[in-house]
Amino acid sequence: MQEQIDGVFRFRSTCYSCRREFDVIEGTQAYDNVKRNSKGMHCCEDCKNRIELEARLNFGRRLLTGKD
Ligand SMILES: [Zn+2]
Repeated sequence: MQEQIDGVFRFRSTCYSCRREFDVIEGTQAYDNVKRNSKGMHCCEDCKNRIELEARLNFGRRLLTGKD
């Protein structure tokens, strides 16, 4: 669903990770993702940051242990 508030287009999406509703604002990467694939899995900024951090930690751990 697309809304326009204060001249800025935004979509309302539901985070697949924490199930919270969140807004994505025109001009952001997240907005492009939702616009291109509104039925896809999208996550909020908090979860995106957390997932990226976890991925980085896992990557670092793999480098240290040499295991998957
Ligand atoms: Zn989330």
